[in-house]
Amino acid sequence: MFDLVVKGGTVVTSRHCFRADVAMCGESIAAVGEGLEGRRVLDAEDRLVLPGCIDAHVHLDLPVGEFRSSDDFASGTRAALCGGVTTLVDFTVGSAGTSLPEDIRTRLEAARASVADYALHGEIVGWRRSRAGEIREALAMGVRSFKFFTAYGASGRRTDRGRLLDAFGVLSGVNALALVHAEDEEIVTALQGELSPEEEECMASLARTRPASCEAAAIHDVAWIAARTGARVHIVHVSSRDGVEEVRQARRRGVSLTAETCPQYLLLTEKAYAEAEGHLYSAAPALRTATDGETLWKALASGDLDMVATDHCPFTREQKRWKGSFRNLPYGLPGVETLLPLLYSEGVAKGRLSLPALVRLLAEAPARINGLYPRKGSLLPGADADLVVLDPHETWTLSAKALHMRTDFSPYEGLAVTGRVCATLSRGELVFADGTFLGHAGRGRFLAERS
Ligand SMILES: [Zn+2]
Repeated sequence: MFDLVVKGGTVVTSRHCFRADVAMCGESIAAVGEGLEGRRVLDAEDRLVLPGCIDAHVHLDLPVGEFRSSDDFASGTRAALCGGVTTLVDFTVGSAGTSLPEDIRTRLEAARASVADYALHGEIVGWRRSRAGEIREALAMGVRSFKFFTAYGASGRRTDRGRLLDAFGVLSGVNALALVHAEDEEIVTALQGELSPEEEECMASLARTRPASCEAAAIHDVAWIAARTGARVHIVHVSSRDGVEEVRQARRRGVSLTAETCPQYLLLTEKAYAEAEGHLYSAAPALRTATDGETLWKALASGDLDMVATDHCPFTREQKRWKGSFRNLPYGLPGVETLLPLLYSEGVAKGRLSLPALVRLLAEAPARINGLYPRKGSLLPGADADLVVLDPHETWTLSAKALHMRTDFSPYEGLAVTGRVCATLSRGELVFADGTFLGHAGRGRFLAERS
């Protein structure tokens, strides 16, 4: 007799779909099979049962200029669980004046209110060879992936190519993962320098001055440095056809490169910037064309892109108030709660992705890339009992009002969605059921053991 059995659903793994019960004991999956009996039963008849999703790119409580992203660890992880995301990977807030271990301790303190399990990427700002020892300390503290920016020189976050070459050499030596925000700073600076005063005041200039070519050029450079040093590199938020092409070519040459895209690049286009509230879509990379979006979907299906994450970095309408220039805005969009519904509705229900591909992109691949597999991202016996039960038939209209993310707009407001999360389990605990959140602050755990 098991503690809890999710009964009669269609179980989806990264390879198969089959009718089965999923049984758990305590916090772990105990068995997947037919006729399993439990002290408690959760009926999943006519529903899909998936491993909990992993959003490996979120920014909760992130300082951005004069603002902080509007979800903190309590509200952001609660929204995540309501949307079927059971594990999040956030970032430390790096600076040239603080050490990585200090950044990690500060972030772990902020993350204590989490309701979902989480891991951390270490943000590297101000790399110097003398900081190599900090990487070893960070590894011992459970941080195994390190984020670099090739852009944002003005705010001091950029790492130039010389420093990247040095840093990747160090990461390669300890088999740590480098994450890269890839936009070519020189292309952006040159294009922004050519803007007329009218263009400065035009939201569409965001996309024009951060074009697909700036992403492709940066990925090209980063791939060369990865090849040179042997470092494992992951490109975050690939947004364009040209970007995908650079990833594909690098992999063909044998470069150890993985890459993700985000729902906003799959579903939205730069036309949004021409809307009356176009400034609410401020993000970097910028939104692209419909052709870019279709290329990204195909790259997800073919495996040229490995996973989907959200880059969840919400702000309120007030924080995004238009102040006369596309440069004078916090960049970032909400997304953690809508990741699974949007990928199911626009991906699976519209025939762009198979169900196993959905599980590969939202659970297995992010778990593997981030050293969390098979404890997370799988339904194997012994794995954490993180599950989502999804009704594939229910249709609903997306609205910020009905979501749990702490922001007053959604980039997808009014979108007709097929498929809805009915229940979420985190380590065997029912934390969301039939529209009601059941978890409590502080139950989330830091995932320090990564492979
Ligand atoms: Zn990000």
